[in-house]
Formats: sequence, structure tokens, C-alpha cells
Amino acid sequence: MREECGIFGIYGRGNKNLNVAKLSYLSLYALQHRGQESAGIAVSDGKKILIYKDLGLVSEVFNEEKLDILQGDCAVGHVRYSAKGKDLWKSSQPLINEHKGKTFVLAHNGSLMNSVELKVKLTQKSNLSRSVTNTEIMGSLIADREEEDIEDAIKSVVAQLKGAFSLIIMTNKKLIGLRDYCGFRPLSLGKLKGSYLFASETSAFNLIGAEFIREVEPGEMIVIDRNGVKSSRISPSQKAAFCVFEFVYLARPDSDIYGENVALSRQKMGGKLAKEHPVEADLVIPVPDSGRYAAIGYAYQSGIPYGEGLLRNHYIGRTFIQPIQSIREDSVKIKLAPVKKILEGKRVVLVDDSIVRGTTSKKLIKLLKEAGAREVHLRISSPPVICPCFYGIDTPSKKDLWAANHNLKETRKWLEANSLGHISIEGLCSVFEKIPAGNFCLACFNGKYPL
Ligand code: SF4
Repeated sequence: MREECGIFGIYGRGNKNLNVAKLSYLSLYALQHRGQESAGIAVSDGKKILIYKDLGLVSEVFNEEKLDILQGDCAVGHVRYSAKGKDLWKSSQPLINEHKGKTFVLAHNGSLMNSVELKVKLTQKSNLSRSVTNTEIMGSLIADREEEDIEDAIKSVVAQLKGAFSLIIMTNKKLIGLRDYCGFRPLSLGKLKGSYLFASETSAFNLIGAEFIREVEPGEMIVIDRNGVKSSRISPSQKAAFCVFEFVYLARPDSDIYGENVALSRQKMGGKLAKEHPVEADLVIPVPDSGRYAAIGYAYQSGIPYGEGLLRNHYIGRTFIQPIQSIREDSVKIKLAPVKKILEGKRVVLVDDSIVRGTTSKKLIKLLKEAGAREVHLRISSPPVICPCFYGIDTPSKKDLWAANHNLKETRKWLEANSLGHISIEGLCSVFEKIPAGNFCLACFNGKYPL
């Protein structure tokens, strides 16, 4: 049930110059890193909603012909990654439902903590299958509400939800974006040629030339319709707990979140890491691509030359975004190849974003040594991951999280690294100028769950 997804929505009514299906398609390309198992776009022309979705990458699901069929002036797009291999077509999004006889679609990024309780309530009332996803639960809860106005129905449903949810909902009249009161998963508001849009990350805005307006605030609902843009609170309070892992690994480097650029933040993490864990070495190399900016930061700060000692095969998915362990393990070798001529005889600092199960790091260190590296010093731009995430990121259970069960000394020895250093929690939080440390969720590093 845990998801890590990318969502997009555009309200282009009254603006004849916009092809909302094609803009959604392009935006989903810029959000593809957030989900690679299914892609979907729904469009409304004010009278009806059409939807096309399927399993696969954006490039596999859509073509010119399919986009041409999706005629409308408002749209919602979604890319999905599901935990535990649940890549069923029926779970792909946007999901469609009805409230008071009127169709709406829903696109979700996050994960509910009280989904079991909500599911029991729903299955008692209706014939809903027990295997429903979080998004179907939210859709069914909205569909069941008696309030005439869908905005009121959504507010009543949100009051029952516990967990992480950034949502985009589209009816034939409105486009609605909202965020849970902790704001775990990002959601931004933008503008393109006078029309408003939402996206999980500003990388989508960059691609289509849209202007970033602001983040949707935790606990805020923004409604876009013919009357313009309206903001209201969906929870009386807010307790900001932005996922710091978005900065460490998940978000695209060209995205900005709360005024902090992801690439620059990663670079600063690398600099901090060099200060906290210096080492004598000849070369700093990243685990491409996610360790690259931190490795650049480490090299700048330490004065050790930067190089690319690992070659990434770009034609397979990201390691973390592989739902099954057996595929994940095989993919390490397929994905990364050592460049012998660069590594031979060198004392190497290998920079990566995190250690989750530890298997990738172990294999990489072995690969580098076999390729001729004299020493391998592993530096990690996140603190040890000791607790699972319940807010929309697929992490293994505590028993499979390496750092939850081993101390640093044991880890270094098992990895066969010459030395090992993680950035500290304080060091990680110190790289952000605009986001106070108290506004981050750090639960996977310190076990202090905001919810
Ligand atoms: S537990 Fe970790 S991955 Fe999950 S929201 Fe918090 S910081 Fe992000």
C-alpha cells in the first residue's frame, strides 16, 4: 500500500493556447523518477472526463495518437510506484469515482497510516474489495459523503485521514490541490500563460516553462475554477514535517522545495560530510546519479580531485525503485560498471546518498577494489537509516534495514570499506538556510515519528 508517486494538474479553462494533455505528458516526464510502474492522464472538457492510463513508463504508455484523443482544457497526471510488486493496472492513477452523480478523478502521493481502519469501515458499508489502495479508500470516502459541494466532502474526509497525502482532485468544474497538515510530500502551485497548475516538483514547471508561484502549505487546500484561485485550511493547525529524504535522494536535482534547490542542498551535504569525515585520498567519486552532487561538494570542500569512476547504465530503473529484492540485487551489476583506468592504484572516496539494506554498497566496494582501487572510503550524505518510513516511501521493515541492526564498526567491516562516515543529523539540517530543522521529518534517522 505504500507509494511514492508524482502528481500533476492543470486548469487551462478559458485559455485556448494550452494543450493540457500534452503539457501533462511532458510534466510526467519530469516526474518520472517518482514512479515508474504506471502512468496516467485524465482530461476534462467541462462536461465529461476522459482518462487513459497503463502500466509502464510515460514514454511506453502514451503516444501522439493517445494524447490527441485526450481533448480537454483541464487535466490531471500521475506516475506511480507501488511497494511489494503491486503493479496492478487497477491501482494505476488517476482514479475515477463519483460524488453526488458527478465524476471526479483523484491523484495521490503519500501513504495513509489508518488505511486498515478506514477500509474496514468502507467494506462494512459497501462491496469494496479488501485489496483497495489508499487512493481508492480516499475516493470512496469522498463518494460516500452527503455534502452537496465536493469541497465540503473533501474537507470532511480529510478530517478522517491520518498520514501523508498530497492530492490533486479534478471535477468537470474545478481543480483542487491539497496537502496533509504535516506536508510530508511536496506539492507546488505554478502558472503558465495565465493558467494555474500543480506539480509534485518544480522540475515539471521547468520543463514546460511554467512559473513557480509557491508551495501548497501543509493543511491547505487550493481550489482553482472560473472564479480564480481560492485557498482554505483543511486542518485547523499545521505541524510542518517535510520529508528530508526528498532532498537527500528522492527529488530531482533541478527542483526547488521551500526555496531550497535540491542539487545545491546535496552539494552542501557533501561539503558538510567532508568536514565531519575527512580522509586522505586521491579521488572522490560518486555513486551515479544520486551521489553525484554530494560527491562534488565533498571534493570542493576537501580539495581532493573529483572523478567519475563508476559508469551508470541509464537503460534500467533506479535501484531503490525496484519492488522485488531479487531484481534489485541483480540490477547492481547491470547498472554500474567500474572504469578501471580511472580507479587503478587510487585511494578512492566513494560518496553515496544512503545505506538501506547495505547490499548495494558492499557490491560496489568489491567492484571498485577488483577494478584496482587501492582503498575505498565510503561517505554517506545521510545519517544511518534506522527506522522504516510510513509516509509514502517504500523502505524495508526494521529487520532488513542494515543500520537498525548493526553499529558503524560492524557495518564498515561487513562492507569491507577502509573507512565509513555518515553525515550527522545536525550536519544534514544545517545545510538548509530557509527551512528550520524543526520543520523536517527525520523519523527514518531518529525514530521520532511526527504522526
Ligand atoms: S520517515 Fe524518512 S523517508 Fe519517511 S517522510 Fe520521514 S524523512 Fe522522509
